[in-house]
Amino acid sequence: MSRPLDFQITATENEARAATLTTRRGVIETPVFMPVGTLGTVKGIRFEELESPELDARIILSNTYHLWLRPGIETIKACGGLHNFIGWNRAMLTDSGGFQVWSLGALRKISEEGTEFRSHIDGSLRFLSPEISMEVQAALGAEIAMAFDECAPGEATREEAQQSMELTLRWAQRSKAAFEVAQAVSLRPPSQDKETQTDSLRYRQALFGIIQGSSHLDLRRESLQRTVEIGFDGYAIGGLSVGEEKGVMMEVIESIAPRMPVDKPRYLMGVGTPEDLIEAVARGVDMFDCVLPTRNGRTGQAFTSRGKLNIKNARYALDQRPLDEDCACSVCRRHTRAFIRHLYQSGEMLASILLTHHNLAFFLDTMKRVRQSIRSGQFAKFRREFTEQLNCGLES
Ligand SMILES: [Zn+2]
Repeated sequence: MSRPLDFQITATENEARAATLTTRRGVIETPVFMPVGTLGTVKGIRFEELESPELDARIILSNTYHLWLRPGIETIKACGGLHNFIGWNRAMLTDSGGFQVWSLGALRKISEEGTEFRSHIDGSLRFLSPEISMEVQAALGAEIAMAFDECAPGEATREEAQQSMELTLRWAQRSKAAFEVAQAVSLRPPSQDKETQTDSLRYRQALFGIIQGSSHLDLRRESLQRTVEIGFDGYAIGGLSVGEEKGVMMEVIESIAPRMPVDKPRYLMGVGTPEDLIEAVARGVDMFDCVLPTRNGRTGQAFTSRGKLNIKNARYALDQRPLDEDCACSVCRRHTRAFIRHLYQSGEMLASILLTHHNLAFFLDTMKRVRQSIRSGQFAKFRREFTEQLNCGLES
């Protein structure tokens, strides 16, 4: 393989694409949902479950910002990189820390050089830049690293959005330059005698660029064009789902995704609900991550084929049905809404574990069905039926 990723489209239906993304740690079929493992753990679920045929998560996401602050990069290096440290041998993507630092709000100060902020853990003053982010991500060693970007709020004025986009472009250039250096230095194979070109490339990470520009379509298009000119292994749409209206988000995706390079993976960052995923796939997106299935699982919410179910609701106290009658996951095969509600009301940790498991099973199974439907030319039908069933609601 002459590149860190091999991306092959296997089927298309209008803008929707099914593809295989080959990394040095396995093949990922897209469209794909990446469970979020902020601190090197997908909260509430063991790695064995993620690897099981039932979930079969091929790639998870981790956070540079969080791991850099704790346990710190020296610990992870000493433990042989992130995969070794956490015991996960499948593919990973690390985000750059740009979004986390941005979401600190008043706690951060942005300059041309980078972002100064106070650690959410101990209040210490820290500084993150494209160069530092690339160095940290090289040490973490995920298959896919992200450029360090700046995110404008959903309601940013055109001027604010443009300034932020220009800064992101300058940071993208610096990210790429620093990435090349970090790859050459830290990912050299252990044995360098008789090293072939192919062997050395096995150790290289992929780097994705991030398209910004808030909800301004002309800025988004400019950001896309200039990010592609810099040249990355894949491209992401960043800065969505940050407070803008859902219609605005879909408008940006519709305007940008089909214009992104056809032969590279397209990643929509931090989005969204199962219906958002399907709508974005219909507009040409291949990769997703979101905290919703895990975070909402911990607060008593299940995603189902008929919409969201809040297990706290008293109406489920005697309900003998599974969370989702159409779900074949091990939680739905075994447990009732009544029991899971009892666990939740009692503060039992198993409530979060079961809800998280079902939610991830539902997200991952939905994406599997999306892939199958694109391959069989039935995606439009699948999309229509999925939406219809969702709109029926839980009470029908
Ligand atoms: Zn289930």
